[in-house]
Amino acid sequence: MELTAKKHSIPLSDGNSIPLIGLGTYGNPRQTPKGTSYEAVKLAIEIGYRHIDGALVYYNEHEVGQAIRDKIADGTVKRDDIFYCGKVCLFLWNTFHPPELVRPALEKTLQMLQLDYVDLYIVEMPTAFKPGETFYPRDENGKYIYHETDLCATWEAMEACKDAGLVKSLGVSNFNKRQLELILNKPGLRHKPVSNQVECHPYFTQPKLLEYCREKDIVIVGYSPLGTSRDASWVNLKCPPLLEDELLISVAKKYQKTTAQVCLRFNVQRGVVVIPKSFNHDRIKENFDIFDFSLSEAEMKAIEGLNKNIRFVELLMWADHPEYPFHDDY
Ligand code: NDP
Repeated sequence: MELTAKKHSIPLSDGNSIPLIGLGTYGNPRQTPKGTSYEAVKLAIEIGYRHIDGALVYYNEHEVGQAIRDKIADGTVKRDDIFYCGKVCLFLWNTFHPPELVRPALEKTLQMLQLDYVDLYIVEMPTAFKPGETFYPRDENGKYIYHETDLCATWEAMEACKDAGLVKSLGVSNFNKRQLELILNKPGLRHKPVSNQVECHPYFTQPKLLEYCREKDIVIVGYSPLGTSRDASWVNLKCPPLLEDELLISVAKKYQKTTAQVCLRFNVQRGVVVIPKSFNHDRIKENFDIFDFSLSEAEMKAIEGLNKNIRFVELLMWADHPEYPFHDDY
C-alpha cells in the first residue's frame, strides 16, 4: 500500500482503522505554558494530522479537546476524520467494582474533551495504584501505593464502555506478552485489544513483541518514537540521544530529510504507528512530512540493527509492582 499524507491509515482487528502517524501531546505540565497544546493540536490538524494521542493524566486534555472542536467548527475536519486516543490510568481501579471506576474515568476524559466518544481508549499501564484523588499516590515515605490488579476485570469494564458507545476501539499500553495473553485468553472475551502502545524506535525496535502482536492482529503504537524529550525526571539517560545516531544521520542526508523523519518513516514503513510529540510549529510540520520518501530494504535492515534493547522509559520507580511489565523479555 502506498502511504500518502492523506491516506495512511491501517486496519484494526475490530473493523476500524488507525492513522499511522499521530501527534503525541504529553508535555511536562510544569514547563508548558497554558494554551501550548491547544495551538499545537490546531496546527497539527491544519497540517494534516488526523490522529491525536492524549490522556487525562497529561493535564491538558481540555486544551486538546478544544482544539479538535474548533477545527471541526471551522470546517477543517469532521468528527469522523479525527482519531483520538485516550487512556485510563489504573489509579481509578478498584477490586470490587471495576466497571464503576473505569467508565467514570472515560466520562471524565469525554467531559474534558467535550466529545461524545473517543476512537481508542487504552489501559495506560498494567500496574494499578490505590484508587483516590491523586494520579500516582505515595505514602509519607514517598513510596508508591499499589493496588491489587486484576487485568481481566479491568478489561471487562473497558468492554462495557465500548458496548455503551463511548469508545470505538479498545487497546492497552505497556503490556507484555503474558499480560496480553491474559486478556486474549480471558473466558468470555467480547472485544479483543486492537493495539498495544509501547516504546518503539530504532534504539528499541521491539522485534519479539512486534512479531507476537502481528500474529495476534494487534497493532503496535510506538510511543517516544524520537527517543523522548530526555527529561531526567523520568527518562533513562544512559541510552545516547537517538537523533544524533551516525547511521540515521547518513540515511537522512541521502534523502535530504532529518534524523527525526527517518526514525518516523522507519516505523511507519513496517506498520508501526508513531505518535511523535512536538509543540513547536516547525517540528510538528517536519514530523508529518514523511510521505515523499521511502527507505530501501537494506536501510530498513540497517536501522533495525541499531536496536540496543535499552529502554528510555523504564519506569523503574514501579519495578516492585507485581504487574511491572518490563521484567519479562517481552
Ligand atoms: P518523542 O519521542 O515524541 O519526543 C518528543 C521530544 O522530541 C520533545 O522534546 C520534542 O520537543 C522533540 N522533538 C519533536 N520533534 C522533533 C524533531 N523533528 N526534531 C528534534 N526534536 C523533536 O517522545 P514522547 O516521550 O513525548 O512520546 C510521544 C508521545 O507518546 C507522548 O507525547 C505521549 O502522547 C505518548 N507516550 C505514551 C506513553 C505511555 O506510557 N503510553 C509513555 C510516553 C509517551 P518539541 O516539543 O520542542 O518539538
